[in-house]
Amino acid sequence: MHEFLEKSLFQEVTEHSSFDLKISKWKASLGIPHYTIKTYHVPTAMVTEVNFETGGEIVGITPNHTELFVSLFHTRPLEDDDIVHELLHVKYPDLGEDEINIKMDEILGSKINKQFKSTKKST
Ligand SMILES: [Zn+2]
Repeated sequence: MHEFLEKSLFQEVTEHSSFDLKISKWKASLGIPHYTIKTYHVPTAMVTEVNFETGGEIVGITPNHTELFVSLFHTRPLEDDDIVHELLHVKYPDLGEDEINIKMDEILGSKINKQFKSTKKST
């Protein structure tokens, strides 16, 4: 758990809906469409590194598996790999970071291959 999530500084955190479409797509393809995911943009100035300097990057979640509700906090704009990574944590809450990364690579690797193949066909 990162420092900032435990602090009550949430007034600076703004809800962000521009990633909803991407997230819905990935929720469906990962088989967890029943979860509600809300995204919040966090200013990097709020993220404290271990050395107490601010300005760190973070993408992280606080999942509630009983209510099927997940808050997703991010400093950078969310890319597919960020979303897939965090949604895999939702789907497999017991897996560690390395296992999640392996699954993420499998999913995005096959996605990229498909896109590459279809691009080749059409040219
Ligand atoms: Zn992770």
